[in-house]
Amino acid sequence: MTFNDLGIIEPILRALEQEGYTRPTPIQEQAVPILLSGKDLLGVAQTGTGKTAAFAVPILQHIYNDRQSQGRQRKIKALVVTPTRELAIQIGESFTAYGKFTGIRNTVVFGGVKQGKQIQALRNGVEVLIATPGRLLDLMNQGYISLKDIEFAVLDEADHMLDMGFIHDIRKIIAKLPSKRQSLFFSATMPKDIVELSLKILGNFERVTVSLGQATAEKVEQAVYFVSKSNKVNLLIYLLKEQSGRSVLVFSRTKHGANKIVKKLAQAAINAAAIHGNKSQTARQKALGDFKYGNLKVLIATDIAARGIDVDDLSLVVNFDLPNVPETYVHRIGRTGRASASGIAISFCDKDERPYLRDIEKLINQKVPRIPEHPFIEEVQEERISQRNQGPQKHKNQNRSRNRNKSRNSNYRGKNSRHRGNNNRNKPRGRD
Ligand code: AMP
Repeated sequence: MTFNDLGIIEPILRALEQEGYTRPTPIQEQAVPILLSGKDLLGVAQTGTGKTAAFAVPILQHIYNDRQSQGRQRKIKALVVTPTRELAIQIGESFTAYGKFTGIRNTVVFGGVKQGKQIQALRNGVEVLIATPGRLLDLMNQGYISLKDIEFAVLDEADHMLDMGFIHDIRKIIAKLPSKRQSLFFSATMPKDIVELSLKILGNFERVTVSLGQATAEKVEQAVYFVSKSNKVNLLIYLLKEQSGRSVLVFSRTKHGANKIVKKLAQAAINAAAIHGNKSQTARQKALGDFKYGNLKVLIATDIAARGIDVDDLSLVVNFDLPNVPETYVHRIGRTGRASASGIAISFCDKDERPYLRDIEKLINQKVPRIPEHPFIEEVQEERISQRNQGPQKHKNQNRSRNRNKSRNSNYRGKNSRHRGNNNRNKPRGRD
């Protein structure tokens, strides 16, 4: 299946080609025909599946085709509501990239910054508006935005929107949308309140479900380091020194933790920055920009702040803390190994986090390879026992101790250098 087979028009095909997209991702394959036919869509999918193009391309195509028969004045035809500024910016960039040969303009509005520039961009005229809920309502109330010409309404990351307390804002926005419109609703999960919300927005819809879990986990090379809480920072420093020059995104569960990591890295002469909700918008954007363009090699992020990170050659993700929600793990590792590339994700796991690891392995239906030797290893009773119970593993352990010195220098170095020393070392030990 190619984009051409999906009936996409030439100016957009050309842009996709320039983006380096050779094949549609599963969600694009399924959603594009539904959306081109004008039906509503319920997409159960998360960031990393290629869902932005799945909705942006058909919307651009509709607007492009309709524009031939309409006047020259630009009206806001499409509205995308998304929970965070980072995501909003990223979606705006995607519309710009896919629509670069269509002449269709977009702009992004979000809170935390002065509104002057956003108002100016709206005045200049756009067909596509990407917005976070609060600022959108604010500008609507001030009379700068009208939704009366909206023909396409997208609610993105609905579950996060609700988690972040936007339900009332969303209801107000929906109430202002024209009844004749095409509606798109995306959510990674579908608990009861999300189902209810989706029914308020969608008319005659089709559902597309794409599981990122297994697909992502299969294309990202993973490894876990057993390490005590107190040694995590030392292990990180050790690995970053090995990986120097590479763009590394480090996930921390808490904002405070992220700041602490930055400080400790600075003491080891490693330049890093943190992005999280307590940082000013300017500081976050600067750090993101520096990271994206390679001026900053190490970025420490909390999960929410990392949602909009879209860096082309992000080859390594480090889970400094394992998330207690297994889907978050999949989401994090999906930051590397984007739609068609492959990447590496390594995780630090202390004693308290072992249950999280088990949940993650259940979700992705595979065992994350363990790094059996590294300078900060925390002894893993349970692992040793389970190995002793597996006949062939005993043999491997013998090999391992024979290769001990060798393996000290052969810790995880990335996809082209795995399995130095004992070839079996980093391989999954089968499913349990
Ligand atoms: P999204 O889920 O929309 O955030 O997309 C995840 C990543 O996949 C983004 O970095 C996109 O640029 C990239 N992407 C989307 N569609 C394709 C495709 N068909 N081929 C290659 N990369 C893609």
